[in-house]
Amino acid sequence: MTQLEPTFVVVGASLAGAKAAEELRERGFDGPVVLIGDEDEPPYERPPLSKGYLRDRQRRDEAFVHDLQWYADHGIELRLGAAVTAIDRDRREVVVQDGERIGYTRLLLTTGASPRRLPVPGADLDGVLYLRRLGDCEAIKEVFRTCSRVALVGGGWIGLEVAAAAREAGLEVAVLEAGELPLLNVLGPRVARVFADLHREHGVDLRPGVRVTGIAAEGGRAVGVELADGSRVAADAVVVGVGAVPNTALALDAGLQVDNGIVVDAALRTSDPDIHAAGDVANAFHPALGRAVRVEHWANAVHQPVVAARSMLGESASYERVPYFFTDQYDLGMEYAGHVEPGHLDDLVVRGDLAAREFVAFWMAQDRVLAGMNVNVWDVNDSIQRLVRSGARVDRDRLADPHTPLEQVTAR
Ligand SMILES: Cc1cc2nc3c(=O)[nH]c(=O)nc-3n(C[C@H](O)[C@H](O)[C@H](O)COP(=O)(O)OP(=O)(O)OC[C@H]3O[C@@H](n4cnc5c(N)ncnc54)[C@H](O)[C@@H]3O)c2cc1C
Repeated sequence: MTQLEPTFVVVGASLAGAKAAEELRERGFDGPVVLIGDEDEPPYERPPLSKGYLRDRQRRDEAFVHDLQWYADHGIELRLGAAVTAIDRDRREVVVQDGERIGYTRLLLTTGASPRRLPVPGADLDGVLYLRRLGDCEAIKEVFRTCSRVALVGGGWIGLEVAAAAREAGLEVAVLEAGELPLLNVLGPRVARVFADLHREHGVDLRPGVRVTGIAAEGGRAVGVELADGSRVAADAVVVGVGAVPNTALALDAGLQVDNGIVVDAALRTSDPDIHAAGDVANAFHPALGRAVRVEHWANAVHQPVVAARSMLGESASYERVPYFFTDQYDLGMEYAGHVEPGHLDDLVVRGDLAAREFVAFWMAQDRVLAGMNVNVWDVNDSIQRLVRSGARVDRDRLADPHTPLEQVTAR
């Protein structure tokens, strides 16, 4: 295909892909923009799938980034139900599943991540569900309507959010977690215990330190989960939330550098300067942190594509935002900003009351704030982000004191 004018192709029509297309138009690019996705739905946001929409508090259409008309109005060619099977870098074309080739001047990969599969016998039976797509969410909503017991394998963010929603829907809930506490590797023991207590108080049968060995079946359908100690947790359905893996196959096959995601620089360029990557799939060098980070956060999928689009347009751009995410479970709302590697979770300063679940926790390294998390305390996350970004040394007593504004905690 001969390129008549610069064409921007985006593979992965979800939040990051849609935001990139939007930014290209915002910056005045008026050439062809082709947004290709293998799902049948227009780009949508995923947090409602474990929160508002799952809990019947948000309508389905509220999850969509834009309605279909928006893409037409902005001249964005949205190709849905179309998996890209290869990137031909020599010819600067992507190959779609039906064999069609689409030429690009610049290519953006926003292929996201997929749920990690449970590597045990029975993991693909009917009644074993994963949560990534709208259809997955709707299958779980159906479980809520028709079943009385659900077992969740994995006590990560998604597992715990589904547990909370299932309890609200009146189901008996068991959470089966390999670690000694849910979220232990993300939050460390003191804060992880807050979430364990929260779920137990809401009637969840939380079983930490267990190893799932199989899915019990009757008539080809899941009826429970088998554990290494020989016991079985009976359930009408099993929801698996054991993490996600970045969708890197296209990039790998095309010979791009891949290491825990597609490796990109701060301008979100891959090892091929005509190809960029953003969102969950991108392992991006972060100048402020001084290393590459790949995060699976909504905010990252909103903001990285803005930088990617500018960079694709030849502007100088660099992604330097502090990683940020949030969760809602029962009456607990929290925001988290920063990034802590496992192994740095024990040095904690707490401002407020852990037991009352109204606090800000700070993960520290030598009197510097690596990350902070506000739980049922609001309007402080921007200040937390400033502390993380500044890398300034803080006075721990002032940091712990709820009466000292976060703007006044740096060491004198
Ligand atoms: C249930 C759930 C709840 C969440 N809640 C929160 C939350 O509370 N807070 C938070 O910060 N984050 C949350 N997240 C994470 C957040 O949703 C993700 O970070 C965000 O969706 C990433 O967007 P993305 O566009 O990079 O990737 P994705 O959303 O994964 O989109 C990638 C798209 O590319 C498509 N694709 C992949 N390969 C191809 C191909 N070869 N051809 C065509 N299309 C392809 C995929 O099918 C998909 O549609 C949640 C995620 C889930 C699943």
